[in-house]
Amino acid sequence: MTGQLFKVRSLPWQKKSIMAVRRALQQGKCAPSWLVVGSDGVGQYHFACHFAHILLCQASALSQKPCGLCQSCQLFETQNHPDFKLVEATESAQIKIETIREIGERVAQTAKQGGNKVVIIRDAEKMNASAANAFLKTLEEPPAHTYLILVSSRGQAILPTVRSRCQKIVIPSPSFSEALHWLVTQGVDEKTGKVLLSLAQGSPLKALEGKQKPERLNVRYELFKGLDRLSKQMVFPITLAKEWANLNLLWVFDWLELIVMDMVRCSYSVSESRLVNGDKVEQLKTFIQTPQTDKHFWFELLKKIQFAKDACKRTPGLDKLLFLENVLILWWRAHHSPKS
Ligand SMILES: [Zn+2]
Repeated sequence: MTGQLFKVRSLPWQKKSIMAVRRALQQGKCAPSWLVVGSDGVGQYHFACHFAHILLCQASALSQKPCGLCQSCQLFETQNHPDFKLVEATESAQIKIETIREIGERVAQTAKQGGNKVVIIRDAEKMNASAANAFLKTLEEPPAHTYLILVSSRGQAILPTVRSRCQKIVIPSPSFSEALHWLVTQGVDEKTGKVLLSLAQGSPLKALEGKQKPERLNVRYELFKGLDRLSKQMVFPITLAKEWANLNLLWVFDWLELIVMDMVRCSYSVSESRLVNGDKVEQLKTFIQTPQTDKHFWFELLKKIQFAKDACKRTPGLDKLLFLENVLILWWRAHHSPKS
């Protein structure tokens, strides 16, 4: 994914942000240091890569979009540009002072391609205190033709002295319909797009990631099928739990939570557009028609599922199947009509 981003053009909901930096460049008012922020999954890093591409392209002296043809564009797109540096931390690690010092030394040198030098610091909040303090030096006196682009979805976690020295640009979140339209252009069918977007809480990039992992959607398919049988008492809870034992049980808990959450919403007649599983509304309505329970039962079940999910995530050695059996037994009982 990282490599592909170097060729990706700007995302539709980022057009205004791209235009803003182009304008600044055209007017010769482009700040040397930028902080690109936005909600998780709106594509701050996409934006930063596109911005870097514009800054490095030799043919875009008037800050038009990168030409994709010049030597600088070719080097950037193949991730070989000598005047470009991407800094990123691994998931749990911090960005350390050594890395920041190395950047300082690198940008102090003359540009090898004779144009701009660009550094992107991804997840900039991961700079530890000493790294952030060392970075201040470069921010205060940036060498000529040097652009530093910090990217973060947790901008407030960045040292205020670093933040205040950067020009901030907020990447807006697209509307649901805008995000859905974009997903369709990426080859996702509309129905699936809606589910993926809801699951990703409106984040288009996360939704697309979900599309690239179809196994996760398959788990949902298995769950709806199994819960339907369980509700009609065509299968016993223990048997169904065994059938699901081969699935990723953490995903099973994730989906169970989203399905029961939707059932609670349905029981309160919440608009269908707010359901994660909006394409399964008829089935959800059938699930809540139980002879033995009222709405509160589904709240209680939801709490039990969330407890099981959190416990299993926190403690990998727990018997997940046991938790699943308990949840399915409760479900089965709710649908079990007493013999008269
Ligand atoms: Zn170019």
